[in-house]
Amino acid sequence: MFKNNSRTKQITGMVYSGLLATIAGCMTLPASAQQAHVNPWAPKKIKAFPPVASLTKGVWLKGDLHLHSNHSKDASNNPVAKIVAFSESVGMDYICITDHDNHVNGDVASNTWADPEFKSDSLLLLYGAEWTTTRGHGNVFSAKPYDNQRLYDVRDQRDVAVGAVKKELGIHLSANHPSGKDHFGYSYDMINSIEVWNSAVWPKNADAIMIWDDMLSSGRKLTGRGGSDSHHGAPDSPDKATKNSYQNKVNYVGTPTTWVFATSRTTQAVVDALTNGRVAVSANPYAPRVEFYADLNQDGKMDMMMGDNAKATGKPVKFRIQLTGNTAAGAAYTVNVVKNGNPFQTLQAGGKTPVVEFSDTPEAIGRSYYRIVVEGPATAYPQVPGSASLSGNMIGLSNPICFNFDPNF
Ligand SMILES: [Zn+2]
Ligand SMILES: [Zn+2]
Repeated sequence: MFKNNSRTKQITGMVYSGLLATIAGCMTLPASAQQAHVNPWAPKKIKAFPPVASLTKGVWLKGDLHLHSNHSKDASNNPVAKIVAFSESVGMDYICITDHDNHVNGDVASNTWADPEFKSDSLLLLYGAEWTTTRGHGNVFSAKPYDNQRLYDVRDQRDVAVGAVKKELGIHLSANHPSGKDHFGYSYDMINSIEVWNSAVWPKNADAIMIWDDMLSSGRKLTGRGGSDSHHGAPDSPDKATKNSYQNKVNYVGTPTTWVFATSRTTQAVVDALTNGRVAVSANPYAPRVEFYADLNQDGKMDMMMGDNAKATGKPVKFRIQLTGNTAAGAAYTVNVVKNGNPFQTLQAGGKTPVVEFSDTPEAIGRSYYRIVVEGPATAYPQVPGSASLSGNMIGLSNPICFNFDPNF
């Protein structure tokens, strides 16, 4: 009996401990499964960043990146020569005439670019077109002629096919008026920039800015740029006027103006600066330009500018905003700092060369970015006198200074 009892206890004990192990096994299974889950896309330290380009070896060039000549069927009184002469007269350095490519079945090479008026002694003329498709509009910017026909032909295919053609052509592709009619209905993964300021009518760009912030916040280092999207030139005589001719007095070349910090005065350097984001947008060619710099080690020397991307060290960074150009005497400018898509700080700037600074510590792990919006008294643009009332107190915006954006994203 004793033995049997002992044996029974032994067996019961074995069953019991086996049961415990099973329960313990059941309990540890989900926990170990949780430990096993690793998000492969979680922010991690980025090993190497390309060095930041020189802040001084370069030249600020201003231009307009969205213009329609008479080669677009919805334009009027706007031959190429008129656009070129006007651009020269207001001191532009570059322009890109972006006619609707669907109006010539993709063949811009035999139309806009082949126009004998497509030339200038002082202006850099980029090669481009407004890629005008059922799924919306995008602008192409190129330093030299490219095969626009191929881009036009592929327009209705899946984005992976479109993206492959875009890559082969080596062009800069940009989303146009992204929140309006004919918004860019393609993947933003195949573009280099986004039109965050379309035409003199500044207030209608709020949703475009929202899209830009969403793209930046998700790691897409897209350049924000402007474009007047002007279609209508001044008629040579009153009888040539159309119902849209009034537009050249409110929205024409330079409303807004896109500034690029180019390494040289060449079409390639303009496109490269656009791609790299060393870009600011001003209400018109005479309005001041927003410059935005950062001093990474607080030695008083600026180390990077807008469009640049650096490793965050976990230490404070000093930022500097400067307004360069025709600032109004005695005017007060409001400098709004946006961090990661949210309002961060509001600063006041004044004087002949307004400069303001602020400090912040970008997070050591994970992305962050800062960008600037400046408001203040409008700068007169006598050649397009009605534009000021449409852009209101909007003076200019910068591109972001970025930290920990994956250069291989
Ligand atoms: Zn368009
Ligand atoms: Zn357009």
